[in-house]
Amino acid sequence: MADNKKTPPDTISKIKAIRKQELSADALAQGIFDGNKAMLAKAITLLESTKAAHFEKANAVIEKCLAQPTNSIRLGITGVPGVGKSSFIETLGKTLTDQGNKVAVLAVDPTSSLSKGSILGDKTRMETLAKDPNAFIRPSPSGTSLGGVAQKTRESIILCEAAGYNVILVETVGVGQSEIAVHSMVDFFLLLKLSGAGDELQGIKRGIMEMADAIAINKADGSNLEHAKLAVTEFSRALHLYPPKANGWTPKVIKCSAVENTGIEEIWEMVQQFVEHTKENGFFEKNRQQQNKNWFLQTVDEYIKQFFHQKASFKKQQAKLLTEIEAHKISPFYAAKILLDKITEEL
Ligand code: GDP
Repeated sequence: MADNKKTPPDTISKIKAIRKQELSADALAQGIFDGNKAMLAKAITLLESTKAAHFEKANAVIEKCLAQPTNSIRLGITGVPGVGKSSFIETLGKTLTDQGNKVAVLAVDPTSSLSKGSILGDKTRMETLAKDPNAFIRPSPSGTSLGGVAQKTRESIILCEAAGYNVILVETVGVGQSEIAVHSMVDFFLLLKLSGAGDELQGIKRGIMEMADAIAINKADGSNLEHAKLAVTEFSRALHLYPPKANGWTPKVIKCSAVENTGIEEIWEMVQQFVEHTKENGFFEKNRQQQNKNWFLQTVDEYIKQFFHQKASFKKQQAKLLTEIEAHKISPFYAAKILLDKITEEL
């Protein structure tokens, strides 16, 4: 890498100074509006914090950011490890910044806390994009539950948009239910696939095909090109078997090569067509509103659960009832009802 691409030492010391500073919500929000990456990173760290004192401040920042007018596209990208997600994001991201866009890359990886950042944690991923002044890359937040991890990413989107990032790429490895979580925070959902020899449709999780607005067959280069062409036909045929989508969009299958940079611009043109189409038929805004409502309802459920679990008597009663269940003295369902009744009596 050329030396002139290295971050100058005075910039590094400025970033370090910002990291250490205790800033008000106003100052953080202003830093974000100014497009200051270090401030944006600091605000995201604040909202990822589990400390109660940080919660209020993080929410004050989010509220200020929500008031900013934005015009973004949120694109979810999923695919098995090795399919080429980071290579694809690097190539797409570079194409987009070259066109004058500001690109933020976020991730939802519920395994990252176990593997210490398996996705986007590795510094060698997206090396070029990481150095691009118009790109911001943030590894997956860690957390014990997918819901928690996804919530933080969802909130980070708001901050990135307020910082002027008009393309938000959200990557997921597709473990557990993480695709569903990402699908619920993006406008467009892209599934990356590899072509094999005739086994294209195998190993696809039920429901993923239904969620996808497009399938990109990656690594369509060299000796793999012919396989990729076959895969396009096969996936297109398979997609036709699904009922029409609520957004009125017919999912597309496009082959691409992240390494040779082919098909990438075509994919971006398709995303723009999708946005135009769904803005015209009203789905774009309606979908974002519905997503917000769902996030609210899910979060309320989560808070209710936390509220009960934090009660001291909850654990005691639960342990007692578990012993009774073990001894076949009570049915698990009746025990659950008794536990809830006992705790609500205390309120
Ligand atoms: P991820 O795990 O899904 O993020 O996949 P990576 O982007 O790390 O790619 C996995 C491997 O596939 C790497 O060795 C890449 O160089 C390679 N790769 C990614 N995209 C392409 C492509 O379009 N063509 C070819 N031939 N190799 C690719």
